[in-house]
Amino acid sequence: MSFENLNLHPLILKAIVDSGYTEPTPIQEQAIPELLAGHDIMASAQTGTGKTAAFMLPALHRLATPAKVHSRGPRVLVLTPTRELALQVSEAAAKYGKHLPRVKVVSILGGMPYPLQNKLLSQPVDILVATPGRLIDHIQRGRIDFSRLEMMVLDEADRMLDMGFIDDVERIAAATPATRQTLLFSATLDSAIDKVAARLLKTPKRIQIAAQQARLDNIEQRLHYVDDLSHKNRLLDHLLRDMALKQAIVFTATKRDADTLADNLSAQGHEAAALHGDMSQRDRTRTLTKLRHGGLRVLVATDVAARGIDVAGITHVINFDLPKFAEDYVHRIGRTGRAGAAGIAVSFASGKDGVNLKKIERFTGQQIASHVVPGLEPRFKPRPGAGGASRGTPNVAHKRSRTWSNDTSGRNANSANGNRDNSRGRSFDSDNRGNSFRGNSNPSPYARTK
Ligand code: AMP
Repeated sequence: MSFENLNLHPLILKAIVDSGYTEPTPIQEQAIPELLAGHDIMASAQTGTGKTAAFMLPALHRLATPAKVHSRGPRVLVLTPTRELALQVSEAAAKYGKHLPRVKVVSILGGMPYPLQNKLLSQPVDILVATPGRLIDHIQRGRIDFSRLEMMVLDEADRMLDMGFIDDVERIAAATPATRQTLLFSATLDSAIDKVAARLLKTPKRIQIAAQQARLDNIEQRLHYVDDLSHKNRLLDHLLRDMALKQAIVFTATKRDADTLADNLSAQGHEAAALHGDMSQRDRTRTLTKLRHGGLRVLVATDVAARGIDVAGITHVINFDLPKFAEDYVHRIGRTGRAGAAGIAVSFASGKDGVNLKKIERFTGQQIASHVVPGLEPRFKPRPGAGGASRGTPNVAHKRSRTWSNDTSGRNANSANGNRDNSRGRSFDSDNRGNSFRGNSNPSPYARTK
């Protein structure tokens, strides 16, 4: 399938060619025809699948035809859980809409000054990208006219649900015309999301893009077993001294850890800065701009802050702390390998991380190969059968034990007879696995102290 077959407006196709995309991703291939036909959709697609273009291209296609209703309000509304994702969506709108005669994109985000937003909203708007809380404020002050709204997109609806924004989302939806087309994107489509969809969407087409179809095939994943915090710090310092590392995002579990680690790294001579939700919007934007322009080599971030970061120069993602949720792992590692480049995702796992690691591997359908840096070997050793060792490549010093592939046969080859559950189950559940992987019931002596 090529983009030409999707019947998008020629000026949008031109922008796609400029972006260097040669063919639609699976979510684009499935969603765009449904959207052009006017259907509502609910799609399970994570970051990295090309989901932004999947809704933005049809949205722009609508804008290529004059509005039927005359007003200055937005014709397309995109709601996102975070400011970073909103900015990302706005950039995508500008990028794909750059050849269309006039597409006015406005972002309304929490943490930004009201006077500027009031001014932006007093002028004609085509695409409004917003975080729910701040948008509600403006709606209540009567500053938004939704009379010509044609399309509403709920991006990362699961995250909006998790963050408690869904009531706001429903109130916003109630302020828009019932005739609107509604799109819901979520990492997973579970019963909670189904309930939201039942209230806000009209007989939606359901599109399921498996986690494995996410564009992670160009990201090499590595696992380093670690003993304790000091071991993590030494390994991190070693990894950051690799010349092949151009820019990296290092993920920590908490905002405080992000600050501390960024300070420590700066003290060690690395160009590092923190990014997390406690920082003012101005500081966050300044840090991100610095990262984009190459003025920052290491960004130490928490999950919330990292959503939507799309910086082509990120060669490495390092999970200093593993994420609690497997979905976040995919979000995190998707920060590297952008726009078809190769990327490396390194995860540190201590004795207490076994359960999390297993959840991540089950979610992605792929095992993470373990690596060892000579001289920085862990004292703590998972028993045979763990992680990369289960594939007969125990502790290979910086050597890939296999290639990632988007290809199903390749994936199955990595698991026993294609039975992934059996193969992964062995990794962390078998009795010879070592009790230190048994989670909270048996805390590891090497567990990190906070
Ligand atoms: P998203 O899932 O929307 O965050 O997009 C992930 C990345 O894929 C972004 O860097 C996009 O620029 C890129 N992308 C989107 N669509 C395509 C495509 N059809 N071909 C290649 N890259 C794409």
